[in-house]
Amino acid sequence: MLQILPSGVVTVAYIGATILFILALGGLSHPETARRGNLFGITGMSVALLATIFGVVTENYALLIGALAIGGVIGITLARRVQMTEMPELVAILHSLVGLAAVLVGFANSLDPSVNFEGVELTIHDIETYLGILIGAVTFSGSVIAFGKLSGKISGSPLTLPARHWLNLGLLLIAIWYGREFVLASASGDDGLMPLIIMTVVALLFGIHMVMAIGGADMPVVVSMLNSYSGWAAAATGFMLSNDLLIVTGALVGSSGAILSYIMCRAMNRKFLAVIAGGFGTSGGSAAGGGEDQGEVVAVDSAETAALLESAKEVMIIPGYGMAVAQAQHIVYEITQTLRNKGVNVRFGIHPVAGRMPGHMNVLLAEARVPYDIVFEMDEINDDFPDIDVSVVIGANDIVNPSAQTDPDSPIAGMPVLEVWKGKTTIVLKRSMATGYAGVQNPLFFKENTRMLFGDAKESLDAVLKEL
Ligand code: NDP
Repeated sequence: MLQILPSGVVTVAYIGATILFILALGGLSHPETARRGNLFGITGMSVALLATIFGVVTENYALLIGALAIGGVIGITLARRVQMTEMPELVAILHSLVGLAAVLVGFANSLDPSVNFEGVELTIHDIETYLGILIGAVTFSGSVIAFGKLSGKISGSPLTLPARHWLNLGLLLIAIWYGREFVLASASGDDGLMPLIIMTVVALLFGIHMVMAIGGADMPVVVSMLNSYSGWAAAATGFMLSNDLLIVTGALVGSSGAILSYIMCRAMNRKFLAVIAGGFGTSGGSAAGGGEDQGEVVAVDSAETAALLESAKEVMIIPGYGMAVAQAQHIVYEITQTLRNKGVNVRFGIHPVAGRMPGHMNVLLAEARVPYDIVFEMDEINDDFPDIDVSVVIGANDIVNPSAQTDPDSPIAGMPVLEVWKGKTTIVLKRSMATGYAGVQNPLFFKENTRMLFGDAKESLDAVLKEL
């Protein structure tokens, strides 16, 4: 048996890493301190990894280092290859790995003959193991489906099985029943493998059903909820392995993910439980169909767009997912600077669920070095639109869709949206009349004061900048 670092040093390193993680979360709460927060996080994780690797009591360092090398190479390759637009998918699939790890650790722990508990301790340990595998399996299968939905491999529309609430309730009751069976079997000296396997299958089915039932525009809540679950799965693994750092880190991720889910729900005017129950917007109202004709649209070219912008005093830029696809953030900032030099007041309005992950637009604008003091949240600027001369909607669709307010049957009904149509003129940059993530047509495009600038956002804005 070999242990390079003494236990005392490992404990101190764990406390240090915990403090660094808390500082990281604090830093990440604001764009200006996010970079520092990230550094704290990286340092904390490095300390935690080193302390765990060198503090572990093992005979088998070769296996440990081999696994770390394989995992590290896969991680680095994935992170280098992934495009910014694929980030949400990457996050979803990484959550699934946390879930899978919890399941595997749970089974290994349950079958490990060297783990010896008796009486109450055994029952507590069994409940930890059972819950760890349960949360892990739901996180795993749910995240795989979320990955499929975010990457477009699985349709975004909700799957609504008949009596789905009863189905969920049934699965929950089965999981509770087999939990009892597992604890009783384990107490009587059996390994309880059968109840564990049955529960794992049930939990995997529950994860699939839960995420399949969620409609397009409600995905942000699911992504942050799975983030939270992955934290609780890690915390449960920490209990199984008696690793304090894993418990604390898991709890930090779990609770911050839960807070994020709450914030996303509030931003979308949804009730958390109703989102989880799924099936929003399935009543099939007129807007849900997608591409039906709603009248004429007025197209403009880059010269007309430049002229409109130059003659404006107040300009509001609304970025959306299409700006990320086109990677247009740098050119957007160049246009912003040009207009500001000409005395035009340019501001940015950010919807809380714009793009495909929380804070997506803020990250892109920060990357292009757009000053934070001209970037506003929806709540801060939504009342200003009547005073706006030109709103420029760059690759956004659902977040500026008036039918969220006017059509109770729409899948996005009730979601607060940026009220661009109240301004004097709106210019929408997109490639076609295609719908956005929620799959609903947007009456904004057909309004009298809306102009469409068709084409890839980056190419269109390049042309506009030349004209300016
Ligand atoms: P949308 O998905 O509603 O619309 C994006 C628009 O961008 C499309 O209509 C598309 O039209 C256009 N587009 C795509 N590529 C380009 C390009 N290269 N150049 C110009 N335009 C382009 O995005 P929003 O940001 O408005 O709304 C976000 C949606 O995603 C919401 O429904 C939200 O619920 C959901 N969501 C958000 C998550 C989050 O955490 N933020 C997570 C998961 C889902 P066209 O094809 O015609 O160009």
